[in-house]
Amino acid sequence: MDSLMLSPLQLHLRLLPLPNPFVGTRKNPNEFRRIGKSWCFPLAGNGNRFVVSSPLRSWSRLAYSTTATARHKPCSRYAVLGAGFSGMSVAWHLLKQGSKETRLCIDIYDDAGIGGGASGASGGLLHPYSPKAKLLWKGAECWSECLDLLVTASRVAEARSSEEVFQYSFTDISEQFVWQRGIVRPASEKNADILRENAQSFLESCYLELLDRNAAQSLVPDLFVPVDLAIYMPLAMNIHPKRYLQALFLACNELAEHEENEIYLFKESINNLEQLSEEYDAVIICLGAQVNKLPELSGKLPLRTCRGVVAQLHLPTDLSEEYHHQRPAILSDAWLAFREPRNVFIGSTWDWNSTNYSSSVSKEEASKAMEELLPKAATAYPPVQSWSFVGAQAGLRAMPPLTPYGSLPLLGCVNGLLGETAKSMYWLIGGLGSRGLLYHGLVGKLTAQAVLSSNEDVLPSEFTSWKNGIKMNY
Ligand SMILES: Cc1cc2nc3c(=O)[nH]c(=O)nc-3n(C[C@H](O)[C@H](O)[C@H](O)COP(=O)(O)OP(=O)(O)OC[C@H]3O[C@@H](n4cnc5c(N)ncnc54)[C@H](O)[C@@H]3O)c2cc1C
Repeated sequence: MDSLMLSPLQLHLRLLPLPNPFVGTRKNPNEFRRIGKSWCFPLAGNGNRFVVSSPLRSWSRLAYSTTATARHKPCSRYAVLGAGFSGMSVAWHLLKQGSKETRLCIDIYDDAGIGGGASGASGGLLHPYSPKAKLLWKGAECWSECLDLLVTASRVAEARSSEEVFQYSFTDISEQFVWQRGIVRPASEKNADILRENAQSFLESCYLELLDRNAAQSLVPDLFVPVDLAIYMPLAMNIHPKRYLQALFLACNELAEHEENEIYLFKESINNLEQLSEEYDAVIICLGAQVNKLPELSGKLPLRTCRGVVAQLHLPTDLSEEYHHQRPAILSDAWLAFREPRNVFIGSTWDWNSTNYSSSVSKEEASKAMEELLPKAATAYPPVQSWSFVGAQAGLRAMPPLTPYGSLPLLGCVNGLLGETAKSMYWLIGGLGSRGLLYHGLVGKLTAQAVLSSNEDVLPSEFTSWKNGIKMNY
């Protein structure tokens, strides 16, 4: 990549106002406490802490006293179920778009913690194109919204000391979590023509280049390029999903504090929606594939599940062929996301209709995944055969139906599915499929707008048309 060219992230940093208004306002460092079986993160506010009763009644939580001005504002309370890409994005956008006249209190619930589901297990590959190099529907908006969130999270991570990070027992978010090195996809005999044709029109902010074999192999020596063509996305990225989400959560904290709002994370399982009834103005359901386990929605959403395993490999110390830090990630029948010169993630398997929600992978499952993934990865990049297996992680994708616009996330108000007993407004962000990282910024922003205005019409009908196939009970 041309070193003088600004990356999308650098460009966004230039466009956003400086200095960052959300950093450096904290008077007390954050703490988290174990209360009963749950972890509670008291996040916003800079006054004295006190105990308030839990929204779930089973335990107490710590809160901060708010200023007199904040106390006199009317309060709107929101529950966000799930702290993956969709949950963290909608929490951020609620705080960002909330009115100054209203105090927001947001409670996030996730029994596995931040990035405990598919998001944390994902490959973190980010670009706005289909496997055939076609710009996805709303690809430009998705790309731009996603970059905004990455910039926000990066700023907060950079500003945080490792001491503060340690207090949250997070992985070290001050470590790099965005690798802006591009992605390369060698064409095959089968898809070369369509790739060449689709690559004629692209998004300027994530442009495509057509490379011949020599050019592709000068980017990645040893790359297998079966026909004389590869698609290169120089500005595409690979991120560390958990570190990113943790940083975004801290960004929510800082934004909430700045605006005298409140945000809490509860490490608590939500077994049914009734557990939350009457407590909130709105509940936003962002449970990924596990939304199927909510009795109120089980079997009612047009979603299929698909488990994916990702394997981590390491270059043994006695081998010297490191993967240079500026080389791109590789997309082929399997993808290879190199995060450090001696560390690569390869993925992913596709186990349709699996009901295994666990992020951990048994020895048997890992070895089966390696049998499938390693030959594919080694076809694209043969040196990876001599790398050693380190571990595996997995996630369950929530796959939406295919529409004329592609496989789109399912958004909208779901009170009609819940019957007359619904006490709040219930909203869904679901079915992010295999491109949740790309979609999460836009769908979080749109849903926050819909929630705050109690108006589903602000959502593009393409995202809500899934409901037309379902008899709604308004
Ligand atoms: C192996 C794999 C690789 C992938 N790679 C990529 C990629 O490279 N790029 C890309 O764009 N997308 C990728 N995806 C897709 C992407 O990960 C998903 O689309 C995205 O993570 C979905 O986000 P989500 O927030 O909707 O769901 P999730 O991330 O699953 O979040 C749901 C959260 O809800 C919590 N939860 C569930 N039930 C309950 C409950 N009852 N009570 C409390 N909390 C609960 C879970 O713990 C979880 O944290 C990949 C997916 C997989 C599986």
